[in-house]
Amino acid sequence: MTPETATPRDGYFGAYGGQFVPETLMKALHQLDCEFKAAWADESFRADFDRALREIAGRPSELYFAERLTRDLGGARIYLKREDMNHTGAHKINNTLGQALLAVRMGKQRVIAETGAGQHGVATATAAAVFGLDCEVYMGSEDIRRQALNVFRMRLMGTKVVPVESGQKTLKDALNEAMRDWMASVETTHYVLGTVAGPHPFPDLVTAFQRCIGSEARRQMLDREGRLPDMVVACVGGGSNASGIFKPMENDTDVQFVGVEAGGRSMHLGDHAAPLCAGSPGVLHGSLSYVLQDADGQTAPVHSVSAGLDYPGVGPEHSFWKDSGRVEYTTCSDDDAIAALMRLSETEGIIPALESSHAVAEAIKRAPSMGSDEILLVNLSGRGDKDCNEIQEILKRRGNGQ
Ligand SMILES: *Cc1c(COP(=O)(O)O)cnc(C)c1O
Repeated sequence: MTPETATPRDGYFGAYGGQFVPETLMKALHQLDCEFKAAWADESFRADFDRALREIAGRPSELYFAERLTRDLGGARIYLKREDMNHTGAHKINNTLGQALLAVRMGKQRVIAETGAGQHGVATATAAAVFGLDCEVYMGSEDIRRQALNVFRMRLMGTKVVPVESGQKTLKDALNEAMRDWMASVETTHYVLGTVAGPHPFPDLVTAFQRCIGSEARRQMLDREGRLPDMVVACVGGGSNASGIFKPMENDTDVQFVGVEAGGRSMHLGDHAAPLCAGSPGVLHGSLSYVLQDADGQTAPVHSVSAGLDYPGVGPEHSFWKDSGRVEYTTCSDDDAIAALMRLSETEGIIPALESSHAVAEAIKRAPSMGSDEILLVNLSGRGDKDCNEIQEILKRRGNGQ
């Protein structure tokens, strides 16, 4: 299928996407779709968004030539798109600033969000504080225990963190609770979904707010090298940082895309979080997409060393890209991600997030077999400060803790 026929039906990417939600949410989603389309076409909204990206997130983020890593690997020239340099440490702020501005435009005074490790919660709390919105973040009680620092950061910024006690008490359960809140509060509340998953129009609007990554990278690459990269690599949890960097280069057909899912401990169901590589189409959180499910169609448990990739579903456009072949999807194990984190830290003085380390690991695998005239661009979606405790524990267990 060509990109021109990618969205023949509004809200669908080929067969994927849609709005599989209760009746009470259909009206809210329709309103959100109309408001978003109007806002995106409105120059003054776009100017407000660009200004927020500049003044609050600190954009544009740097396009960095990883000279030492390139020399070490002896192949393709490796560039990093430095989303780790954004305020709050990852690409997530791009989306939350956009959605907070949308909430203000719609006259909604309250925002809610779901969060796993707390990164999206912190980014939402930040945007809510900046624009003076009331904010409540749903978080599994198990995650609250594990991510005490992020809970504290949210509370410092005036956000109420609501513990979720259902299910496994993690991200999937928090998302269900946030949806439930929204059904009852939609008149006054905007739901800030954290990735390109969920019912239409969320995949479209989150992609729109994350496009700045790829638009900047495209321009920076042309300025710097006079041409586009041969390959772009990004990690895929729900898929928002990958969509953000791929989308503006989707029609540049000479640019090859690679999405990296969490390979976890093994490729046995329950040991990884790789729905595109090991799942099958199903409905989760309001849209049809690849999902990890057991033989009875129940959503399977997932595992990844990186909390941000630990999700059994993925955005519907990625499912479309997988089937059309526009993006190649692969996995990276926990161990390879940790090794990549250490290697980038040592060679470039950059401690990447464990999520982003999955993309770095793929670059380390591929660069040596590419020519020195080729360019490999990695989306460095976030910084690894948040993961240092975890890494320290893992190294201690292996007996080489420092
Ligand atoms: C949340 C997160 C991810 C995963 O989310 P996507 O929607 O797949 O981008 C990746 N990297 C970092 C640093 C994150 O915080």
